[in-house]
Amino acid sequence: MATKRDYARLFDLTGRKAIVTGGSRGIGRALSEALAAHGADVAIVVRSTIEQADALAAELNTNGGDSFAIRADVANPADVERMAAAVEARWGRADILVNNAGIVLPGNAEEYPLDQWRQTLSVNLDGVFLVSQAIGRMMIRQKSGSIINIGSMSGRIVNWPFRHAAYNVSKAAVHMLTKCLATEWAEHNIRVNALAPGYIMTELTEEVLRDHPDVVSQHWAKGAVQDRIGTVDELAGAVVYLAGDAASFTTGEIHTVDGGLTLR
Ligand code: NAD
Repeated sequence: MATKRDYARLFDLTGRKAIVTGGSRGIGRALSEALAAHGADVAIVVRSTIEQADALAAELNTNGGDSFAIRADVANPADVERMAAAVEARWGRADILVNNAGIVLPGNAEEYPLDQWRQTLSVNLDGVFLVSQAIGRMMIRQKSGSIINIGSMSGRIVNWPFRHAAYNVSKAAVHMLTKCLATEWAEHNIRVNALAPGYIMTELTEEVLRDHPDVVSQHWAKGAVQDRIGTVDELAGAVVYLAGDAASFTTGEIHTVDGGLTLR
């Protein structure tokens, strides 16, 4: 628990052990870098190509540290158990979990294929549940931990004109799961919060821009009172805050960082 004497150390994560799913690109990469910059070691969890994550881990370890990359599909229970066992074997503990991995498969509701609906829910919701469960058990044993789920403004509002009901539903469910786990695990000294970003420029959004180059000016920026979309760096501070002692009295919170998009 932070005391008055500790103000300067509120954001210090030195020696903390963090897991970031989908941590090698986009938002996850920035969050891995930010946690490491504040002293944490990071297990970078990736679904497929491990090379990018290995390179990032080496970068994070430049001045010492024990970050590493590990392959796991968050929607696959056996993969998740193997990943948690590897974290336990290497570190013997887990202080911070960032459930960042997520996918968007757009499409109109009336013709949306059931397999895409299930795939979206499987990665975005089951994945958060499975990884929280596996890492949460370690946190329960050690009686401490901070979990941050990457939700979305799409868990609060319906994006337009692009339609992706499955994604929106998955993120709304992540917000509710955040509150459920915060409530159940408070007795184990585990805090569970969500970060709900607005439109952020990443590989994911760049894919949309390729087909719809005007979407930022026509829709995404227009929606935000700050009249622009965000960068991955603008999410980093919120996650460092939620991860560490600065947020010791904050749990079950859905922290929105969206340039005011959901204000009106
Ligand atoms: P991204 O596609 O660049 O990164 C997603 C990462 O998740 C990738 O590394 C991908 O490999 C990984 N991933 C996907 N499925 C996985 C699986 N089954 N197992 C393990 N890893 C898997 O996307 P991003 O824009 O960086 O998004 C990161 C998170 O932020 C997502 O949860 C997304 O929904 C959320 N988000 C993004 C925005 C935005 O505007 N970019 C806005 C709100 C919320």
